Amino acid sequence: MSLRLGALKRAEEKISSDVLILGGGPAAFGAALYSARYRLNAVVVAESIGGQLNNAGEIENYLGFERIQASELVGRFKKHVESYGVKVLQDRVIEVKREGEGFIATTRRGTKIDAKAVIVAIGLKRRVLGVPGEREFVGRGVSYCSICDAAFFKDAEAVAVVGGGDSAMEGASLLSNFAKKVYLIHRRGEFRAQPILVEEVKSKGNVEIVLDTVVTEIMGTKSVEGIKVRNLKTGEERELRVSGVFIEIGFEPDTQFIKSLGLETDDYGFIKVHGYMETNVKGMFAAGDITDLWRGFRQVVTSVAQGAVAAHGAYRYIEGMKLKKTPGSTGQS
Ligand code: NAP
Repeated sequence: MSLRLGALKRAEEKISSDVLILGGGPAAFGAALYSARYRLNAVVVAESIGGQLNNAGEIENYLGFERIQASELVGRFKKHVESYGVKVLQDRVIEVKREGEGFIATTRRGTKIDAKAVIVAIGLKRRVLGVPGEREFVGRGVSYCSICDAAFFKDAEAVAVVGGGDSAMEGASLLSNFAKKVYLIHRRGEFRAQPILVEEVKSKGNVEIVLDTVVTEIMGTKSVEGIKVRNLKTGEERELRVSGVFIEIGFEPDTQFIKSLGLETDDYGFIKVHGYMETNVKGMFAAGDITDLWRGFRQVVTSVAQGAVAAHGAYRYIEGMKLKKTPGSTGQS
């Protein structure tokens, strides 16, 4: 019995694949599906299955689904790719090295995965305000996910939402159904969110929009009791009594990991891609929010599409490798 278990453990420690896909969001699943359709042996490694979809509630803009819960969509993505035999591992790749013409990756759990091509679809990491009290009160009034935590603020006197993008709008709208009052605090005079979402917020009777203003401190004893804000135009400072602060200020690239892969980025740290989602590293492709393509317009559909194109790029690359090895071939396809 123990011998068999030992053998099983060893078998899991080394995986051979054609395409290794880093990430667990729509781009990763799009890449996995199309890799499998090209009959490539694909492995997905993600710390969080679903990526940013885990912070979303209902999706209303994915073609074919008038309304679907994000969690259900993630479940469908996973089931779909697994039906093709794609392995989905919940783990984190900590290192990818060149080995011969391919790559060898190591995960946090110690699994080694070799691959002919790699698709980087790691998404972005959450931005933080970096003000006093923020870290201290995480989970005690400070939240980065309105959809996950809004219900905890049922009948709260007041809460604040920080940000001016789609997430902040959706958060403010949702919270207005739970808390008696919502302050929507944005650092500029204009919102970058989709107009339809801004209109919805403005139609709510209990949302006060506070523009040109930043949060300078989150205050409290055991949990959040208020925030200090400063108007950037007038310099005026004031305190707002709130029991919740929802920080919805977007996401940024994990520049350290990207650098470790040797990938070229734009000035903001997004991976530069061209053609079929190729990067500057031969055999490495990128897809989704982490790329410099269509920055400022991030949707499930755009990520899935980029993933599919990256898989096509990986397929072409792997076919090219095979041709190069064929005697008499120039390797050009
Ligand atoms: P985002 O679009 O990047 O917006 C972030 C907002 O936070 C911006 O208004 C930004 O201000 C503000 N901000 C950034 N850093 C800040 C700081 N240090 N202090 C104060 N404010 C700060 O992020 P998001 O709203 O999370 O959306 C992310 C992506 O997901 C977007 O592409 C969005 O379209 C997409 N999304 C789509 C939907 C949907 O389609 N229903 C829903 C949610 C998200 P500035 O405007 O001044 O830069």
